[in-house]
Amino acid sequence: MAETFDVVIIGSGPGGYVAAIRAGQLGLKTAIVERDNRLGGTCLLRGCIPTKALLWTAELWSHVLHAAEFGIDLKNPVMNWAQAMQHKTKVVTKGANAVDYLMKKNKVQVFKGQGRISGKGKVEVALATGEKQVLEAKKTILASGSMCKSIPALPVDDKLIFDSDSILELPAIPESIIVVGAGAVGCEFASIFAHVGAKTTILEFLPHLLPIEDEDASKEIEKQFRRRKIDYELSARVEKVEPAGKGIRVSMQTPAGPKTLEASILLSAVGRAPVTDGIGVENTNIKLDKGFIPTDGLMRTTEPGVYAIGDVVPTPMLAHVASAEGILAVEHIAGKEVVPINYDLTPNATYCYPEVASVGLTEKKARERGYDVKTGIFPFSAITKAAISEEGLGMCKVVAEKKYDEVLGVHLVGPHATELLAEACVALRLETTTEEIARTMHAHPTLSEIMHETAEITLGHPIHI
Ligand code: NAD
Repeated sequence: MAETFDVVIIGSGPGGYVAAIRAGQLGLKTAIVERDNRLGGTCLLRGCIPTKALLWTAELWSHVLHAAEFGIDLKNPVMNWAQAMQHKTKVVTKGANAVDYLMKKNKVQVFKGQGRISGKGKVEVALATGEKQVLEAKKTILASGSMCKSIPALPVDDKLIFDSDSILELPAIPESIIVVGAGAVGCEFASIFAHVGAKTTILEFLPHLLPIEDEDASKEIEKQFRRRKIDYELSARVEKVEPAGKGIRVSMQTPAGPKTLEASILLSAVGRAPVTDGIGVENTNIKLDKGFIPTDGLMRTTEPGVYAIGDVVPTPMLAHVASAEGILAVEHIAGKEVVPINYDLTPNATYCYPEVASVGLTEKKARERGYDVKTGIFPFSAITKAAISEEGLGMCKVVAEKKYDEVLGVHLVGPHATELLAEACVALRLETTTEEIARTMHAHPTLSEIMHETAEITLGHPIHI
């Protein structure tokens, strides 16, 4: 007879595996189904974690090249790409092993194979052995994630044209690379390759790099990329890629007319698409909306007993969003009192160099929502701690509303911006004011003084400028 579970989760990314841990903690009998041979999903195996490992190598390398400025003479340093890849693999393996351990610790049963809803309260797993096993599921959570979007103009062949999965296995540093798409994926890989010595050009359809960020943040990263000799073409529509010599040639339309550009390889970073094939959506009453699974604020789909979380639902495609949605769904299943997620408080973090991080409303969005807005911008060049490592790059911008002084958004471009963002996340969660941030003592010397100074400049009385 089929084994019965309180909850069966399809997909073990940061949505699914975190949901499984929480379910185990709450005493629910839990199963997780994963078709990959390792747990962890895109974030751990092909996304956030391996790219951050390569970004670390790339950043370290750029510091090594400037080590002499800090009194360290390194004779003939050599970039060893194969070793960088090994380091990346080691970090990923460690993470996947940790997820295995956490499943055991929380008594979550793991089923390796393709899982799909096969009927009401049933999940069928096509096991790697070729057998099929049916699990009885009181509740099911779909957490099947997303995959690289492919577009006809950029036929990925993993030899000259790569996507963000296959580029992670690149055997050598290319002489030059064209990155199509200036979202987080495009800007992060552009930083990696530019730092390790490849001539790098980004082509972006919209008028800015990182177009979802506040316009001042996008303009700042454009300035910083120019300084680092990362070329980019904005408002560029890529029409064709063809082989040329040992590499590729891209034809595009730009505001200045048609252009062509050649490089050794191309990375397609034009977005991700939800994975809904093969998970049994057709056996439910769920109707996909632009490919995504619609849910209510508690992550319930239109099929009773079936929830969906993470990249398959139309909310920001971010690991921490998936985890928050997983916890919400499981706590609701366990009968806890829960409230829908406020997506305005979603942190964004792009690990290019310098980093870009934001939370809350952009100035444009705040105005569109009818707020009477005030803003303040403070540069990292006036923060002494940044000067120590010659990293006085970028800025912080606070968007606040005038009457009550409430902080609506914080936008950072600069060293360790993704770490500095946490203060802003708490500030917004607590509906704080710029005055409260300004009256909070920040340790000196720290990079976090940028938050203090930006609050002060928003109030009209900065200290160090
Ligand atoms: P994205 O949708 O954020 O960006 C893709 C960019 O490609 C867009 O700016 C788009 O205008 C551009 N584009 C699309 N077609 C184009 C064309 N033909 N020519 C030129 N430009 C074109 O997608 P992404 O960067 O691939 O990221 C996918 C998802 O994963 C996003 O939701 C992202 O937030 C998430 N992600 C997050 C992180 C992070 O948090 N650090 C890292 C990687 C990915």
